[in-house]
Amino acid sequence: MEETNINSEIILQVKGLTKKYGSLIAVNNLELNAYRGEVIGFLGPNGAGKSTTIRMLLGLIKPTSGSIEIFGKSLLKNRLDILKRVGAIVEKPDFYLYLSAYKNLEILGKISGMEIKKKRIKEVLEIVGLKKRARSKVQTYSFGMKQRLGIAQALLHNPELIILDEPTTGLDPQGIKEIRELILHLSYDLKKTIFLSSHILKEIEIIASRMIIINNGTTQIEGKVEDLLNSSQMKVRFEVDNTAKALEVVKLSMWNDNFVEAEKNILVFEMDQVEIGELNKFLVENNIIVSSVVPIRSLEDYFLKITEGSTE
Ligand code: ADP
Repeated sequence: MEETNINSEIILQVKGLTKKYGSLIAVNNLELNAYRGEVIGFLGPNGAGKSTTIRMLLGLIKPTSGSIEIFGKSLLKNRLDILKRVGAIVEKPDFYLYLSAYKNLEILGKISGMEIKKKRIKEVLEIVGLKKRARSKVQTYSFGMKQRLGIAQALLHNPELIILDEPTTGLDPQGIKEIRELILHLSYDLKKTIFLSSHILKEIEIIASRMIIINNGTTQIEGKVEDLLNSSQMKVRFEVDNTAKALEVVKLSMWNDNFVEAEKNILVFEMDQVEIGELNKFLVENNIIVSSVVPIRSLEDYFLKITEGSTE
């Protein structure tokens, strides 16, 4: 991993991070790095250990063992200094519903103990696209707007690293799109480092430049999103009218090397995308009727498998 990012500054470095709750190991020897300016996707099924990790990154709970360095310093020894440069929404943010967005941010700024200027409040409301509604009561806001106000709060002190725990959960497609655009704006235009957790592969694929997949508290797969998607061969499911006959012709052909398994009237092959048409032609030429062809990338297939086995 270091080789591909040799010129980038490491913002966050986690080594051997472990959190035990009694006999349950929620996070198990986790390793991860985040580099300046990237959107890093932290992906895993429910119960994988994402929230527990994020809570440790924010100093909200203590690791059982392992180390966390943020901005090159130990979190344990420099917690307050570090957290001044980190913004986060972890749980659904709480606001005073009968007050305006502007007023809420003013109050939350004061509570944070950091000096937040009026100009900064206006700036963050503009960044998250709530400028026009800044004076309306929060109770008139949609769920998506409240979520963006949560991000505005996290941005108040102009943090370099922003940690978002499942920010699109519960949002409608339009809300999801707005949060996605906001995250990309924070990254590309404002050069923030974004650490984004999700249990949805698609979500991470679209936004993140690099991703780490965790399951049972440990890193399973990690790399540039582009590489992970391109390098992955696909599993392709061919639905046929006569499985026995199809199997027979496949076994005698070169396609036997690609054949993975058969389930009912579906034959599964592992292959590159360009070969799909060829195999389809081969089957049809051998009088097999193909009623559907469904490609599934192995990353997707893998993620589906660990998600099916997740604890929640
Ligand atoms: P995720 O955020 O990926 O859904 P979590 O970090 O919330 O996963 O949970 C990881 C595991 O740790 C789960 O099995 C969960 O039940 C357990 N866990 C989380 N918090 C606690 C806690 N405070 N006490 C006991 N077990 C916990």
